Amino acid sequence: MRAHRTSIFGAMSARATALGAINLGQGFPDTDGPAEILEAAVAAIREGRGNQYPPVHGLPELRRAVAAHQQRFYDLDVDPVDGVVIGTGASETLVAAILALVDEGDEVIVIEPYFDLYAAAIDLARGVRVAVPLVLVDSEFRLDLEAFRDAITGKTRLIVINSPHNPSGSMLSTEELSAIAALAIEHDLIVLADEAYEHLTFDDRVHRPIATLPGMWDRTVTVGSAGKSFSLTGWKVGWASGSPNLIAAVRAVRQNLSYVSSGPFQWAIAGGLALPDSYFADFATDLQRRRDQLVDGLVDCGLSPSKTAGTYFVVTDVRPLGFSTGADFCEHALTKAGVAAIPVQAFSDSAVGDPYVRWTFCKRDDVLDDAIARLNKTYGGLR
Ligand code: PMP
Repeated sequence: MRAHRTSIFGAMSARATALGAINLGQGFPDTDGPAEILEAAVAAIREGRGNQYPPVHGLPELRRAVAAHQQRFYDLDVDPVDGVVIGTGASETLVAAILALVDEGDEVIVIEPYFDLYAAAIDLARGVRVAVPLVLVDSEFRLDLEAFRDAITGKTRLIVINSPHNPSGSMLSTEELSAIAALAIEHDLIVLADEAYEHLTFDDRVHRPIATLPGMWDRTVTVGSAGKSFSLTGWKVGWASGSPNLIAAVRAVRQNLSYVSSGPFQWAIAGGLALPDSYFADFATDLQRRRDQLVDGLVDCGLSPSKTAGTYFVVTDVRPLGFSTGADFCEHALTKAGVAAIPVQAFSDSAVGDPYVRWTFCKRDDVLDDAIARLNKTYGGLR
């Protein structure tokens, strides 16, 4: 685990706090999720629901709510008894799935840049990470399907996909999803679909789980995150759903990690998942407005953000401002402009991420305005 000793997100947040910088690095909202969910957690604690160990694979009410959510949004028929496992955030279910499904020497395909947790989990499993790059086409990060095909060998066991994608903000197109599905079926591979940002989609883009594609249900583990869907990242409630035999494997590992996840929060999130469609639509619309606010501000500073279809994030190439790497720029922006961002290098094995920086827009309007003003002051003149 030596390579994974520091988390860039925690490190950047700590430095931002120490320096009084505005933190557009780590993706956490600065306004909490719906009041009714917060109240439901308080009520659960007061009423003694979930203050003691909840059932090992998750509160039945939450498992039913996850199944109903998958049915409502995607027409997926999830078994709430054996087809869902609740974890301490999406993170725990992702790590559990990788540990469960990957043996020593198995190759795991990840889309690069990738969420760094995958790399650590693959190393814990003694698997071999095989990174397939996204490529920038017309300001949009797209999957290199040829490279994806070439990356599959006789040792490939698992494909990890993430759409909407952290850090690029891109979403896999129907064509890309179909191509991945066809390869998974042809080579008899399992897909781990990290859909933590499923409700954070913009411009009428609709998230489509790969598990809905023909032949994919039996070979896909789908992961969701209450932290992302309800702006409650500190609660750390997440889940995996899929066919009972795959979920049984994830459960076997997960129950030996944290055993169970926080009871009162599970009660509250069960209620959150039942919120009307309007909650999810309004949430995405609000976030889209913030995306536009940050994107416009970054353009004003001389940066050209790539197109962001979903997530909390937008990516910029720092070379137009005279920096050669995102890491150099982030150090400069943190210490000179007082704004923290994350170098995309931290999500990459190869040099694909080197010139890019990831910014989050899940912040209040005034915070975004302040950050943009600071950036403009420092970089506006460099245009
Ligand atoms: N997947 C992705 C792609 C993420 O960006 C994150 C959080 N940064 C997670 C999973 C983890 O979600 P949670 O906080 O629910 O563990």
